[in-house]
Amino acid sequence: MSTTEKASANGVKAKSDAAKDLKELFVDSLKDIYWAEKALTKALPKMAKNASTKKLQTALEDHLTETENQISRLEQVFELIDEKAEAKKCDAMAGLIQESEDIMKETESGKVRDAGIIAGGQKVEHYEIATYGTLVAWAEELGLDEAASLLGETLEEEKAADLKLSEIAMKGINKKA
Ligand code: FE
Ligand code: FE
Ligand code: ZN
Ligand code: FE
Repeated sequence: MSTTEKASANGVKAKSDAAKDLKELFVDSLKDIYWAEKALTKALPKMAKNASTKKLQTALEDHLTETENQISRLEQVFELIDEKAEAKKCDAMAGLIQESEDIMKETESGKVRDAGIIAGGQKVEHYEIATYGTLVAWAEELGLDEAASLLGETLEEEKAADLKLSEIAMKGINKKA
């Protein structure tokens, strides 16, 4: 079997409504992260409530406020490109949120659960950093400068949230866990 034949044997057949160009893929990805951010506005308060230190609670609550702002930014991006703001289930974020909930159930409240919440939170932030990094690059590629700059603002917030969680973990929780 030739390389081309092998490739087509494993090739995924596209759905009839598949994205035809980068712009459509960009819009699909916006809908995905729009769902993810909305889901996080429900998950973050739960994580904050289960954190045992004021520091971790505050970090999660502050990021909830930022997340609400990120949702408005996404709505602005949809408006800029004349698309309806629509949420499409993000299986990845649903899974990450589920994992965080599982960790909370599998740990007693305190240092160990805090370490689990931080780990879950950082997985979420890393997923968001990857997503917004891609969205910024695609917006630039598509010549959507205003959208790129809005998405870039969110990207920086996600990076800062990740760093904040690392800092909290280093400054004690992980050491005492
Ligand atoms: Fe976010
Ligand atoms: Fe996603
Ligand atoms: Zn997804
Ligand atoms: Fe985030």
